[in-house]
Order: sequence, then structure tokens, then C-alpha cells
Amino acid sequence: MPVSEFRHFINGEWVSSERTFENRNPADNSLIGRVHEADKATVDAAVKAARAALQGPWSQLTVAQRTALLHKVADGIERRNDEFVAAEVADTGKPHHLAVHLDIPRGAANFKVFADLIKNVPAESFVMDTPDGGKAVNYAVRTPRGVIGVVCPWNLPLLLMTWKVGPALACGNTVIVKPSEETPATATLLAEVMNEAGIPPGVYNVVHGFGGDSAGEFLTSHPGVDGITFTGETGTGEVIMKAAANGIRPVSLELGGKNAGIVFADADLEKAVKGLGRAVFENSGQVCLGTERIYVQRPLFDRFVAAFKVHAQGIKVGDPNESGTTMGPVISLGHREKVLSYYRQAQKDGATVVHGGGVPDVPVHLAEGAWVEPTIWTGLPETSSVVQEEIFGPCCHIAPFDTEEEAVVLANNTPYGLASSVWTSDLQTAHRMGAALEVGICWINSWFLRDLRTAFGGSKQSGIGREGGVHSLEFYTELRNVCVRL
Ligand code: NAD
Repeated sequence: MPVSEFRHFINGEWVSSERTFENRNPADNSLIGRVHEADKATVDAAVKAARAALQGPWSQLTVAQRTALLHKVADGIERRNDEFVAAEVADTGKPHHLAVHLDIPRGAANFKVFADLIKNVPAESFVMDTPDGGKAVNYAVRTPRGVIGVVCPWNLPLLLMTWKVGPALACGNTVIVKPSEETPATATLLAEVMNEAGIPPGVYNVVHGFGGDSAGEFLTSHPGVDGITFTGETGTGEVIMKAAANGIRPVSLELGGKNAGIVFADADLEKAVKGLGRAVFENSGQVCLGTERIYVQRPLFDRFVAAFKVHAQGIKVGDPNESGTTMGPVISLGHREKVLSYYRQAQKDGATVVHGGGVPDVPVHLAEGAWVEPTIWTGLPETSSVVQEEIFGPCCHIAPFDTEEEAVVLANNTPYGLASSVWTSDLQTAHRMGAALEVGICWINSWFLRDLRTAFGGSKQSGIGREGGVHSLEFYTELRNVCVRL
């Protein structure tokens, strides 16, 4: 492991705390290192450093200089790719190939895309008639929002953190990142890259710790933080929104989901199975945009279930670092217990277990890890908590539907509204579903495919606000109108 002591990074320097906690590898429960837990004074120091950088060196740079530095950060991630991959795999247990092909390259891309975007944003301008027959011109100026608190989850640690830090820095803000207590490594490694790239001290700060009564709460309730961007559970989002109410500070919330996959009888079965196979099982089902409910039109139902079972049987659960492994453990023993409680509940609620349902056999060196089987159920009532609540594990329930209207009602029957994945060969059906499903993103014949310039976010209880492309500017900048009488 490249880092075995995870300290805070404040004003370009490493800062220690007396209190530490363990960081363990979920594949075998081995100790990766010790994480320093920030107290209020440490968080306060980080906020002060971020404020000083905001008003000082960071604000002195031209947009061209700032964006050139962000490109250097992306280059730094790419140069140290192997270290980032190893750190992410050890922290999360995700298969090596996933970190190589998804997490780390997207981490670098998040800096490049927003650095390039910020250089090409037009500003609106209106010429108006004044009451006395003259003219005035109004034009918009965007200023950085200020010091941004960035609170992150554990499922895609570097990818989701840089998805916020990239645009925040591109817009001229400074940040304090609070990574998940489960995955402190890549945020810490990124601090080294920031220094190597020449990012001024105080622009990127990291404080480690837990949520309530720890670094997360201290950061989100700090009056010196001008805006909070959060990805995580809906319940945590509610707590953070309340904290942000003090001082009327804006929030951007990317929250939970209980996303539906919908397969029409005219869909390409093979592609639907492959696509939804990823949506259900990739990253051990720990993707906010993943699918835990699949609805299949009745004429295709039996064939789909049979083919999906074959797909699940082909998943190779095992050592994340072994080539050929397609599924690692879930994030922790605690999360495994939560996932297994739903596995038990499914049986209590009368599910037919099509595949899995328990704990897999793993080699002896992985015996202490957080393993669960990829699991498929049918036959549950829609009222079952297994069908209603976000499990965040490698599992799904498959149910039949008859009409398009019924599929829409079933898919929308959830307090969440994050994503959906529709499979059909009929363009008319595709467009109608795109309009009818209450989600932030509706995939047609695809999943997890997105241009970073598009708006991303959830509706209903899946979030507030949109980030991505120019939409990120809404949160990361203040829009000011300047009116000049001519
Ligand atoms: P979580 O809400 O438990 O924790 C997320 C972060 O919030 C962690 O850093 C945690 O320490 C911090 N936190 C917890 N309580 C806090 C408090 N009271 N004040 C301040 N900070 C606090 O979420 P998780 O378990 O890490 O991640 C999984 C969840 O994230 C799932 O619900 C998933 O759907 C969601 N998620 C959503 C998206 C999206 O884009 N919508 C993306 C990824 C994950």
C-alpha cells in the first residue's frame, strides 16, 4: 500500500490528530492503515486555510493559469495511475479492472473536462431601453461561490469526489473534502498530486473522520463554509440540508435510489441481459444508478429470468486483484450485515430465490472478508421492503408487467427518482418512457453511459440540483448582473 497513515491535508501540509481509527480491506479484513479523525479545531483550521487561499493566491490566477494547473492535476493522476488503482481496490474491494477502466480515468477526466468547459462558458447580456429614451446594457458575471464543503460516499471514492472538486476548482472555489471513513486513501493520494502539480496551499484540503459528531458534521455546520455538495444516503442528505439552513447556505445533494430496469417484449434479450447484468452486479451492486428492480413484459418474462440466471452464474466472485474476477466483496462487514438482512427478509416475504441468496464460498485467505452472493429473486409483493428500499448490494427482484402504462406506474412507485434503464426496439416506446419516468436520467438500451457535459442529478428524494457541464456552474458560482447605463 502506498499510504498506511491517512492524515489530514490542510494548507498544503499533513496534519495529525490524536484520535485515529482503522481502515480495513473489505476483501480479507486486513488492516490497511490508521486514519486520523478531525476534531472541530482541525476542521476550523481547514476552513480558514481554504478562505485564505480563496482570497489570496487562487483568486490571483487567470482562468488560463487555473485551468492549466487542473490539467496538471489530471496528468498527475494518470502518472500515478497504478498507485491510485491499488489504493482504490484495497479500500473498496472492487475488481482491479473496474478501477483501471472506470474509477481512476474518470477521476482524471473530471479535472480535464471542467477545466476546458470553464474557458468556453458564454455570459448572457441584454441591451434595454431606459424610461428616458436611453439605453443600458446588462451583463452577467460569475464569481466563485467561495469555500465549498465536499462530503463523499465510499462506492466510487475518487470518481465521485473529483466530480465535485473538478468543477469547484475550475470555477475558482476552494474546497474541503471529507471522504467517507471507509475510503480515505485516494483523497489523501490526490493531496500529494495537488502539491506536485503546484496547486496553491489551501485550495484543496482534506479532513478525515466520520459523519455525525465528527468531521462530517463539523464541516457541514461550520459557518465559514459557503456551500455544501454531498453524495450519499437520502437520510444523511436531510441532516446536511438542516445544517445548511443555518446561514442559508446552498446545497447540492446526490442521494439514494431504487432504480428500475424495464424490459419490453420487443427488446434484444441478449443485450438487455448484459446491460442490466452490469446495472445490477457491477461494483457489487453499490452504484447509486444501479438497478435493484427489473420489470419484464410478460411474453419475455420466463426467458429473461432464465437468461439473467445464466448471467449471474457466470459472475466470478473472488480476489479483486486476480484477473478474471468480476465481483469483489461489499464495502464492509457492517454493510454485508445490512445486505444479508434483506436476503433474509426476501425469504420471509415469500421470494423465489432464482440465484444466490447467501454468502459465497471464497478461498481461505478471503474468509474474513465482506462477501455476499449475487442474488436474484422473483415472486415478491411490490410492498416488500426488499422491493421498496435501497439495499445497495448485488441483488435484484424481477417482476412481470403487461402494459406500458403498468410499467410506468410500477417504476415510478418509489420515493426515489434517480435513474432508469429501458430496453426496447421501438423508438416510440423509448421516447414515451423517457418522458414518463420520474428520474434524473433515463437510459434507453444502455446503462451508465453519459456525456460529462450533461446535467446529472436526482428527482424526488434522490437529490436536489444538477451538476455536470454548465449545470455545475449553477452551484459552484454566484451569478451577478451588472447594469451599465450607456
Ligand atoms: P452516507 O450518507 O452514509 O455517507 C456519505 C458521507 O456522509 C460520508 O462521508 C459520511 O461520513 C458522511 N456523513 C454521514 N453522516 C453525516 C452527518 N450527519 N453530517 C455530515 N456528514 C455525514 O452514504 P454512503 O453509505 O457512504 O454511500 C452510499 C449512499 O450514497 C447510497 O445511498 C447511494 O445511493 C448514495 N449515492 C448516491 C449517488 C448519486 O449520485 N445520487 C452516488 C453515489 C452514492
